[in-house]
Amino acid sequence: MSYTVAIVGRPNVGKSTLFNRLVGKRLALVDDTPGVTRDRRRHEAKLYDLYFDVIDTAGLEVADRSSLAGRMTAGTEKALEEADLIFFVIDSKAGVTPDDRTFADVARRSGKPVILVANKAEARGAEGGMLEGWELGLGEPVPISAEHGLGLPDLRDAVIAALGEERALGEDEEELDPLDDAPLIGEDIADPDAEEIPAYDPTKPMRIAVIGRPNAGKSTLINALIGEERLLTGPEAGITRDSISVEWEYAGRKLKMFDTAGMRRKAKVQEKLEVLSVQDGLRAIRFAEVVIIVLDATIPFEKQDLQLADLIVREGRAPVIAFNKWDLIETPQQTLAELREKTERLLPQVRGIQAVPVSAETGRGLDKLMQAVMATHETWNIRISTGRLNRWLEGVLAHHPPPAIAGRRLKIKYITQAKTRPPGFVLSVTRSDAFPQSYLRYLINGLRETFSIRGVPVRMVLRETD
Ligand code: GDP
Ligand code: GDP
Repeated sequence: MSYTVAIVGRPNVGKSTLFNRLVGKRLALVDDTPGVTRDRRRHEAKLYDLYFDVIDTAGLEVADRSSLAGRMTAGTEKALEEADLIFFVIDSKAGVTPDDRTFADVARRSGKPVILVANKAEARGAEGGMLEGWELGLGEPVPISAEHGLGLPDLRDAVIAALGEERALGEDEEELDPLDDAPLIGEDIADPDAEEIPAYDPTKPMRIAVIGRPNAGKSTLINALIGEERLLTGPEAGITRDSISVEWEYAGRKLKMFDTAGMRRKAKVQEKLEVLSVQDGLRAIRFAEVVIIVLDATIPFEKQDLQLADLIVREGRAPVIAFNKWDLIETPQQTLAELREKTERLLPQVRGIQAVPVSAETGRGLDKLMQAVMATHETWNIRISTGRLNRWLEGVLAHHPPPAIAGRRLKIKYITQAKTRPPGFVLSVTRSDAFPQSYLRYLINGLRETFSIRGVPVRMVLRETD
């Protein structure tokens, strides 16, 4: 059972900065203006070996001092309700203010365990403010700097102290813990003119390719996947092999696998190894709807792996990562955590990509891998109605309108999904030439979050209206 942490405090103490630090990306927008309204956000977070959900309440934290209770908005209270633990954030540089006291009362009344986080502790003169923190009656302040990433080991220890080790670290997970929920960063707003991928036809087999560097285990994986099914369906049934693909069935779903065997023979020429496998990878990618990138977990994320991942995104395919040879990993928990972090950092274009540890040799993890393939395929085919999209857009515009450029506001009139496979959206705007990339990214991130478009490329194009 995982748990939820709500980040609470008055405006401008650094809640969003802490949220981003824990989530590992710039999801929420950080703004210097106090009280800038933002959406409440929930996201998977990681603090060293702790994994939990975190809720950012930035933008919801309007205290109303005219009422006796100093009530916060319903949004903040809801966050408190959903939380198992509260990070109550103060600004050590500014010291404790009356607003802090109001918020502290509400946090305390929630009855949830609270950790008092004294942020901006790196700033000159922060010690005084941190000491004032004791007055709030929320226990010992944990000094951190969300902006500079300082003090986080102490925050980790505080979580363990508050929840107990078993709860904080999670139940002993199976060694082959799937990365189902691996958070990843990035988005792709490039190349809206990329070649159209054929429309979805559920009667046709789902096309899959397995790519990766030589020796990553592609052939072994393909054989394991197809061989397993052969056992279930009998030696004769369901498998046909032509020059480029193999058809088989998994969980009642027809599949067609690009046959990578040809690549291996060519790859014998050592000098050309790298070039060849990228080119062959491209053929496989163009064939497929879902592409499994096989990484050798003992030597993951070499340059070529990243080139291949990049190709998949540019071609608009649905990617899934298999961390293969997991049977050789001696410290699965730790390695998993490290690989998760690396994936986040290195593949920012496909936020939320599914990455599954497997052993092609022993067969472990293959079911999880196929589940990830199915789920990613579904996301890749997602279609969101224009009504839902525009209701979402209205909310976004109300809470965080686009910035003014040279004193004139940009207007966003309308959003519609023009394409699936991968999802592509058209945004009707005024002054498309001046439209800031950062705001576009914000919108794409919002779309991803709201409609759960995880792990596949997302395209967004601007259309000028007046
Ligand atoms: P929120 O309104 O509570 O979400 O606060 P933000 O995360 O938007 O941060 C408010 C301001 O404080 C921004 O200008 C941040 O750059 C700044 N800030 C956040 N964390 C730190 C920190 O650790 N040290 C310093 N010096 N500034 C910080
Ligand atoms: P390809 O070049 O990507 O097709 O890689 P192969 O499937 O030929 O595998 C390369 C080598 O890695 C072979 O010696 C396989 O036996 C070995 N291998 C493949 N998968 C695994 C695995 O899950 N665990 C271990 N220990 N070895 C594996």
